[in-house]
Amino acid sequence: MAIIGEYIWIDGGEPTRKLRSKTKIITSLSNDHDVSLSDFPAWQFDGSSTNQAEGNSSDCLLTPVRVCPDPVRGLGAYLVLCEVGNADGSPHPSNTRALLRSTLETVGEATDAWLGYEQEYTLYDGSRPLGFPSERRFPAAQGPYYCGVGADEVYGRDLVEAHLEACIEAGLSIVGINAEVMPGQWEYQIGGPGQGPIKASDELWISRWLLYRLGEEIGISATLDPKPVPGDWNGAGMHCNYSTADMRAPGGIKAIHSACDKMANHINEHLAAYGSGYEMRLTGHHETCRYDEYKYGVSDRTASVRIPALVAKEECGYLEDRRPNANADPYEVANVLLKTTYDLH
Ligand code: ADP
Ligand code: MN
Ligand code: MN
Ligand code: MN
Repeated sequence: MAIIGEYIWIDGGEPTRKLRSKTKIITSLSNDHDVSLSDFPAWQFDGSSTNQAEGNSSDCLLTPVRVCPDPVRGLGAYLVLCEVGNADGSPHPSNTRALLRSTLETVGEATDAWLGYEQEYTLYDGSRPLGFPSERRFPAAQGPYYCGVGADEVYGRDLVEAHLEACIEAGLSIVGINAEVMPGQWEYQIGGPGQGPIKASDELWISRWLLYRLGEEIGISATLDPKPVPGDWNGAGMHCNYSTADMRAPGGIKAIHSACDKMANHINEHLAAYGSGYEMRLTGHHETCRYDEYKYGVSDRTASVRIPALVAKEECGYLEDRRPNANADPYEVANVLLKTTYDLH
């Protein structure tokens, strides 16, 4: 039998990396073959077209690292997430997954972190967010849109539902969706309990690919712009929910406070990993804390880091770093959280 692999990788785009993919057909597998990662050989691509190499030495390597069913093409098709390498096999400088792997190796047996991302995004029809009338007019002020229902309040649900279904079919750890505060803005949550940093981050990148790809079908584009509309409109973030075994164990609130205090000593390292344009989103308004202030608090959506009310009550659980932008690279976000909590700066 033949199978189809859509090889997906992250490019060298500045300041924000983007997804690329191309298709490989793999033949001569026996009919009863159980497809797994090892069926997908390494491959290469033209790095001079992705800001990852010069034209005179353009080959970059693709090493498959995670495979899942491809819900777009269906039976016999797979999505194959890859790491990018230099021609000599070493990790490419743009390969932040390799950095996260090496941090996890340093942490060693203590690696018991779980990551849950809340990916916000904005749907566009042409150059306007869905729900924004054309010709410089604006919809009614924010208020009714968050978790709203009705054709006058939410826009793009068809794509949102198709994306949810595709993520489930692909076996990704998606755990929820909701309409956001600005019209045309949505969120899904991926990762969470039991999901380690690499798996949660891989699945987030694959889910982003699916969102863009499904948008093609109906001519709607999803963007991760952190502040799509200036003024009194919410930006788009990627809150990161993070826990270690210490935080989850009885009395873990101590470890949560300790992690929050450590973060206060590394504000700039964190911001550098939280996506381009964070100054525009982290203004101190619209449920954010100013980027150059740092505070944490229970149930506080104006803080940089929120400790959920239930976690405070049970005295264990997780923390929510509210600072990462929608366009942040989850490998970088996970990496800096681990480095801070395990004192590796
Ligand atoms: P809110 O919008 O109130 O901030 P969400 O429900 O959107 O909260 O997101 C909460 C996220 O926290 C979910 O993705 C969930 O999987 C994740 N989560 C829950 N428990 C843990 C945990 N112990 N460690 C890491 N992430 C967690
Ligand atoms: Mn949420
Ligand atoms: Mn949200
Ligand atoms: Mn949140």
